Amino acid sequence: MEGGKLIIFSAPSGSGKTTIVHHLLEQPELNLAFSISATSRPRRGKEKHGVNYYFMSISEFKKHIKNGDFLEWEEVYRDNFYGTLMSEVERLWKAGKNVIFDIDVAGGLRIKKKYPEQTLAVFVKPPSIDELKIRLKKRSTESDEKINMRIAKASVELATAPQFDKVIKNYDLEKALKEAHQLVAEFVGADNNAEEQEPAS
Ligand code: 5GP
Repeated sequence: MEGGKLIIFSAPSGSGKTTIVHHLLEQPELNLAFSISATSRPRRGKEKHGVNYYFMSISEFKKHIKNGDFLEWEEVYRDNFYGTLMSEVERLWKAGKNVIFDIDVAGGLRIKKKYPEQTLAVFVKPPSIDELKIRLKKRSTESDEKINMRIAKASVELATAPQFDKVIKNYDLEKALKEAHQLVAEFVGADNNAEEQEPAS
């Protein structure tokens, strides 16, 4: 496998990494395309197949594991498998894009290990576990049990932050967006000045 750059954003669920990734995707000079992951978890809210995820059954997911189709995969929560299909990254590279990932910490580090030079691995740090709880509850897309599962995992994930190339503290969203934009622009070699391009709010 070869091609463009790989930009990974990993963080505990509720840290705001998805918001950051969406913001970056709107910046044309970064030439990014989102790596749509495969997952066996059920659809949430307005999510669409082939846009947010490739939704599939557990048995379909396991078939892909067996065939060696994944660049990386994880059972992020029990019976909820998530993975990056190699065909997805190749599709985006063929289109001449840099690929951006919103994936869990273990998957992110796995890709970084496979492609150390091509990859920028960024960890997004939430203000605190309490703030995470508030954000996940506000999202109100999941049961308390699922939220507690995500919180329990978050504490473990926070400990992996030093293994990433960069850590962005998402205490103030505007600042985090700007920082992320600058980091990625630098890495992909985009002719960019985030200060000038961010609309004043
Ligand atoms: P959610 O269910 O909130 O969409 O995602 C749960 C977690 O799975 C998030 O941390 C998300 O980044 C991660 N995730 C999504 N896609 C992938 C993937 O392809 N591989 C891995 N390892 N994690 C993923």
